[in-house]
Amino acid sequence: MENKKILRWITAAIIALLVAYLRMTGYLPESAQETVHEDQTVSESEYETASEIHSAEENEPLQSSLLTRDGFCRTTYEVFVYSFCDSDGDGIGDLPGLLSRLDYINDGDPAGGQDLGMTGLWLMPVFPSNTYHKYDVTDFAGIDPAYGTLEDMDALLAACHERGMTVILDLPVNHTSTAHPWFQEAAAYLRSLPPGQEAVKEECPYVWYYQFAREQYDGYVPLPDSEWYYEARFWSEMPDLNLTTGEVRQELENVIDFWLDRGVDGFRLDAVTSYYTDNPEAGIDFTRWITETAKKKNPSAYIVGEAWADQNTYAQYYRSGIDSLFDFAFAGRDGIISRTANRKGDLRYFAEAMVQEEELYASLNPSFVNAPFYTNHDMDRGAEYYMEGEAAKVKIAEALNLLMAGNAFVYYGEELGMKGAGRDENRRAPMYWNDDPHAAGMCSGPAGMEEIRMEYGSLEKQADDPNSIFNYIREAVRIRESLPAIARGRTVRIPELEEDSFIGFLRTSSAKQGADDVLVLINTGDTAVTRRLPDSVAEYRNLRATLYTGDRNSMIEDREITVPAGGILFLQKP
Ligand code: CA
Repeated sequence: MENKKILRWITAAIIALLVAYLRMTGYLPESAQETVHEDQTVSESEYETASEIHSAEENEPLQSSLLTRDGFCRTTYEVFVYSFCDSDGDGIGDLPGLLSRLDYINDGDPAGGQDLGMTGLWLMPVFPSNTYHKYDVTDFAGIDPAYGTLEDMDALLAACHERGMTVILDLPVNHTSTAHPWFQEAAAYLRSLPPGQEAVKEECPYVWYYQFAREQYDGYVPLPDSEWYYEARFWSEMPDLNLTTGEVRQELENVIDFWLDRGVDGFRLDAVTSYYTDNPEAGIDFTRWITETAKKKNPSAYIVGEAWADQNTYAQYYRSGIDSLFDFAFAGRDGIISRTANRKGDLRYFAEAMVQEEELYASLNPSFVNAPFYTNHDMDRGAEYYMEGEAAKVKIAEALNLLMAGNAFVYYGEELGMKGAGRDENRRAPMYWNDDPHAAGMCSGPAGMEEIRMEYGSLEKQADDPNSIFNYIREAVRIRESLPAIARGRTVRIPELEEDSFIGFLRTSSAKQGADDVLVLINTGDTAVTRRLPDSVAEYRNLRATLYTGDRNSMIEDREITVPAGGILFLQKP
């Protein structure tokens, strides 16, 4: 009897391994999007594919979670639907407009075309809202009518999945709009109470969805026509949800289930440091609750959090088990990427900063996936960080972002070197398809946006120019997606190759005994650099890819390698 049991158990284990292996190699679909993605990797690249790396690890117990994590290491395009593409002429971008330009983001043909080659999409909030930016939601289970319908979203999801792209939705649940029915019900009830009378939960549970009080505590604003106040840290029209209330958590679980059921691949969590003001531990607990709630529904759901704080503060949120946190230390005008590209910081520090953060994040969540980004909708655009004409710096900065490990995010329009600074509205300007603001698809931009003088051409001008910012960044994305270790490996410093404006570092993946490891050489200086490869990387003489901002004369003679000014070389073992 006992032997039969063991035999049955072994048989089941072998079948499970076989199924997992077939899924990994793409013969058995786990989900439509994963299969397409792996096919894409195979046909796109002559290099080792992600699925092959995994088959080498088939005996390791963590294989399924490793596979999932590999699927998270993408290149994700952040889109503000409002300003991306207008399909019906009202000046407001919408989902059918976005769908009509999906070929620009990823045309489904990994081998060719003029698309950006993005493998993921982050949509800023698409739920009904009274503001243009839609971070104050009135219905978490709908699509804003200006953007389209649920059916439009279904069509977009299907088209993205066909192309091997994942789609994550922005989920702002720190607060709602005052126009949300929950708040409206609560406010009406409190106004109906005789002076001094306590609220009764059975009469109106929605009062407990928010933080109401008779005293005006710090961060509270008055509820008009009542003796009550409510917490609204961001804006009076954005009342903070009471995330401790069981009913609120049930509502949010329903929201998460609703979108995962519709095929959304995950969420971007807005403002996680604000979940519990001045109580980061409670915020980390709630982040864990959201992450676990999503993964209970779909184990391969992806969650990335916006914890806009210093690195040591946001790193702590990895203790929640969340997959990713936006890597603010590298982003923005004063971040490591722009300082490196601007030569305000030594390039020598770049690899050290990556190694340090990889160790920090891994110590808090061993299966973390970094979420590097260069700019987003709350920051001045990258082209604003440099002097006029410094296109090379615009290019190199985005390349530095794209060669970081994890899931790298690119804000729409950065691939064109769009401008926009100061007001938030300026940072969210219409996608620069064309110089003619009335050309098909062009959006009007948010009210209050100032006139923005672009320095670099529209897509129409850049598309066929081999030296354009657009074509440089397309190539950077292609390299990232073609050399799996770039997004999936860990950084190893090479101290002999760390200089003020020249650096070399290794991106290593534990699989395949280093066969897919990549040596990256970057020269941000004004003159070519020739260096002898140190012993630790002496074999990395096989030039796999290059990014040039001007001079294209790279040279490899035995162990002597020349990197032209403004050049980035990607080398592997033969
Ligand atoms: Ca429209």
